Amino acid sequence: MARRNKIYEGKAKILYEGPEPGTLVQYFKDDATAFNAAKKDVIEGKGVLNNRLSEFFMTGLNNIGVPTHFIKRLNMREQLVRACEIIPLEVIVRNYAAGSLSTRLGIEEGTPLPRPIVEYCYKDDKLGDPLVSEEHIAAFGWASQQDMDDIVSLALRVNDFMSGVMMAVGIRLVDFKIEIGRVYEGDFQRLVVADEISPDSCRLWDLKTGQKLDKDVFRRDLGSLTDAYTEVARRLGIMPEHGQGGAKPTLIN
Ligand code: UDP
Repeated sequence: MARRNKIYEGKAKILYEGPEPGTLVQYFKDDATAFNAAKKDVIEGKGVLNNRLSEFFMTGLNNIGVPTHFIKRLNMREQLVRACEIIPLEVIVRNYAAGSLSTRLGIEEGTPLPRPIVEYCYKDDKLGDPLVSEEHIAAFGWASQQDMDDIVSLALRVNDFMSGVMMAVGIRLVDFKIEIGRVYEGDFQRLVVADEISPDSCRLWDLKTGQKLDKDVFRRDLGSLTDAYTEVARRLGIMPEHGQGGAKPTLIN
């Protein structure tokens, strides 16, 4: 394959120039990072699993009319996506207390929340992605009031969809993070769900046992991350093309 133009390399993915204007190729790496990259490892097969899982969730969202950047999966580690301008916010939706919310407010992990709570963090690794309010977002012009209305509506629709899909396979969607992109269509712009949706960006607990099936397995050293993600993929009826979790993934040149 011809060498492509690398547009951006992040912690878990690489973006290359796409085959058509307005498209990008999103490559899923095996790198795992946590605590703002203070903890790092390479987990063989993770990229293959996340590529498949994100394809599954994004396709489902597209099918119910929630716009995403996802166009199609290209191979084991790559997908074709629409190029968009990423709004510099991590949009977090929580159904149960966990992680930083539990720490910040002293609420025991697993406590059901009275309603889904939407939070925003400003995307800046140097600052450790600090929590921000809608006041900050408006004052610093990161998103308009119309954008914020659309972002909340998208986030809650993703929450309903993901909660239902996971509940059907015996998994509780505790919380998740999405990123939102702006795409331009002629004189118009609209917001779409971008980046990825995978166990790297969600908290997923087995409904019966409470077993963690997400990146907390890596963050908290709870066992094999590939086994956890493979279990999610297995329950959803998605398996990588070449066996268990793509333990021997075909690398793309
Ligand atoms: N999350 C993420 N990327 C981040 C921060 C959080 O994908 O940079 C996800 C995380 O996996 C969890 C949710 O957002 O599903 C809420 O994370 P939290 O604020 O509790 O932060 P953490 O405990 O991960 O530091």
